[in-house]
Amino acid sequence: MTQKTPDIFTGNFTQQEPIPQEGIEAALAVLNSGRLHRYNVAEGELSETALLEQEFAAQTGAKYCLAVASGGYAMACALRAIGVQPGDAVLTNAFTLAPVPGSIASVNARPVFVGVTEDLVIDLDDLEAKADQAKVLMLSHMRGHLCDMDRLMQICDDNGITVIEDCAHTMGAAWNGVPSGRMGMVGCYSMQTYKHVNSGEGGFLITDDEEIAAKAVILSGSYMLYERHLAAPAPEVFERVKYVTPNVSGRMDNLRAAILRPQLRDLDTQVQRWNERYVAVEEGLRGTPGLQVIERPEQETYVGSSIQFLLLDWQPHKVKDVLKRCAERGVELKWFGGAEPNGFTSRYDSWRYAESAAMPTSDRILAGIIDMRLPLTFSVADCEQIAAILKAEVGAVYQAA
Ligand SMILES: *Cc1c(COP(=O)(O)O)cnc(C)c1O
Repeated sequence: MTQKTPDIFTGNFTQQEPIPQEGIEAALAVLNSGRLHRYNVAEGELSETALLEQEFAAQTGAKYCLAVASGGYAMACALRAIGVQPGDAVLTNAFTLAPVPGSIASVNARPVFVGVTEDLVIDLDDLEAKADQAKVLMLSHMRGHLCDMDRLMQICDDNGITVIEDCAHTMGAAWNGVPSGRMGMVGCYSMQTYKHVNSGEGGFLITDDEEIAAKAVILSGSYMLYERHLAAPAPEVFERVKYVTPNVSGRMDNLRAAILRPQLRDLDTQVQRWNERYVAVEEGLRGTPGLQVIERPEQETYVGSSIQFLLLDWQPHKVKDVLKRCAERGVELKWFGGAEPNGFTSRYDSWRYAESAAMPTSDRILAGIIDMRLPLTFSVADCEQIAAILKAEVGAVYQAA
């Protein structure tokens, strides 16, 4: 047996909580029925997937909801349903994850990157300057940070830009009390293991627009069985789009839906638990020399499932030293400033299939972004220990000559 050293954190940054017992039982019921395909229902039966959609629509206040195979699929489906054509420009964040520009590339459209601020949100001055270049914005609420959504919507409305929100990190978050995903035309979510509810893979698309909703259902592969949906528009809307909308299969299945329904019912509790952990790390980091905490605007209700801080204008070798020293003490950090993409940390200039102009102001910020996951398997005391390790190691490297 190795002795547990208090100086070394021994938790696992990729360990999720188990699926709730209720979800496991619901999944077993689906397995026993053999009816895993969402449209394979017995006479008079409602599918788990249709019920999931109905429940998520109610939870977010959206008129329509479609569950799909992944978050990336939801975003590409939204772009198609809105009518983005090959070669069209689509504005998007320079600081986001690879599936975001990937969704744009998947419809052969062209990402136009918008910079990032020290608050880690989309740079609204840069957005304003580029607003005449595209008719669609794929807005990523990257790492759960919401920008000033009032100003963003004003800029987009003034310029006739349709907004799709990527809420992969903001399921459960809000701006001025309005759920993220409900300010733009379409909201997209991911239920992949590292997000706020976990079905391994999965995505949602929500909207109040009946035509986009109907097209999305057909696109997802409804085989004209759209009347089996509970959060979709009326059949006459489908009549208008069904012969001109291709089937690009990407459905959700009943097994994953069964696992997700109890998790969505628990979302508020989970958000609270995440934020207790987030605040413990945030408080512990304050006052660390050379380290900039990301202050959250008061209009924002966030979900602290990960935390970021800035080591702004640090020399790269010193950042690497911090990462190494923290890793030696069991604290796994990700750095968006590395020369090569590593795990999930790519950035606009890593996506070489998409042209991009240099963005020196954003480059300075990206070079200093440090990211850490906060799985719910960590206790608040774990988070306090992690913060103490970070504070000591960042402080030691900063003060060294
Ligand atoms: C995970 C993620 C997605 C897409 O999710 P998948 O379900 O993995 O396709 C989109 N945007 C961001 C910012 C993400 O982190």
